[in-house]
Amino acid sequence: MTNLKSILIEQINANGPMPLSDYIQQCLFHPIYGYYLKEPVFGIDGDFTTAPEISQMFGELLALSILQSWIDQGSPSKIILAELGPGKGTMMVDILRTLKIHPEFINATEIHLIEASPNLRSVQKKTLSEFDVFWHNELPSFEGKPLFLIANEFFDALPIEQFLKQGNNFFRRTVQYLNDNFTYGLEKKPTINKVLKNRLRDTSDGDIVELNMAAAKISKNIGDHINNFGGLAIFIDYGDWRSLGDTLQAVKNHEYCDIFTSPGEVDITAHVDFEILATNSECTFSKLTTQGVLLERLGITERAKNLAKNLNGKDLESHIYAHRRLTHPNEMGALFKALSLFPKQSSCPPGFER
Ligand code: SAH
Repeated sequence: MTNLKSILIEQINANGPMPLSDYIQQCLFHPIYGYYLKEPVFGIDGDFTTAPEISQMFGELLALSILQSWIDQGSPSKIILAELGPGKGTMMVDILRTLKIHPEFINATEIHLIEASPNLRSVQKKTLSEFDVFWHNELPSFEGKPLFLIANEFFDALPIEQFLKQGNNFFRRTVQYLNDNFTYGLEKKPTINKVLKNRLRDTSDGDIVELNMAAAKISKNIGDHINNFGGLAIFIDYGDWRSLGDTLQAVKNHEYCDIFTSPGEVDITAHVDFEILATNSECTFSKLTTQGVLLERLGITERAKNLAKNLNGKDLESHIYAHRRLTHPNEMGALFKALSLFPKQSSCPPGFER
């Protein structure tokens, strides 16, 4: 029977051990058997839930930060509003509904979604049916126009590489197939690059360092664009400033599992290293803020109280729980972090600090 496992084994038998990023990329986006090609991936019925699916408040509050930044930058009359990896399109529709309070912003806006999964694109088409939307497989060049861009749980889904430190060198991990199992291998030659060189000082023998080259490239393009043409980027994800250790994880039906057990059947993510997202371009960046603090600064408690006025019974209970899940340090409040990029001469977007 053909399945992703047999395809990967064939590739390894033919070409030798495979880069870890290649393994992850195929698990997530193989054109037939990739995880994101299936439905439903996330939400209550899927394998994991994301902040916009937990409550409308998430998108609504981010909308306020975007709107204020647009006003602070002189209300430019033609802008790009873009999202990386919009999932079901829920956050974008919540943002657009909120921004209807300011029709001038909506009139100035061209909406662009960057989405690699055809299934999710069709879900997004339904969610956003009342708006004109442009779709892209990859981040396009938005030459000339200010770019207001958001990404929630996008960078964690991009394939990473892992490097093992031995002596003064880093060796790339590979995926091999031995004794009927996928296992990690190691390249014989060390990898040398600028980022790894910087990590020689804060790591010890045997440590794993992860690099997300795709994230580094995308954030550089976004940051350079915002620096040149104005706008704002808000990246929210789980992770920290500079990552250390193996953070790869696989999830199926809201439970953790091994990344090698059922390729294509499980979601694979890794913690995001925000240092690379922040420092890889010429753009100014905010301090890293926890999701809980960001949402509190943007007024989630007020908003939650207002919404609660019209709710009772089970609906009220789940609304209160959603507020807690988004903000409490034992839930998503501390694990998830937010970073913003903005032009040097502009003020820091609401919710963030320089
Ligand atoms: N932002 C959404 C979905 C997060 S899941 C939410 O918060 O609910 C990750 C999303 O990124 C999915 O829509 C997935 O299809 C998309 N994605 C992952 N890797 C991608 C890539 N390389 N290019 C474009 N989209 C990608």
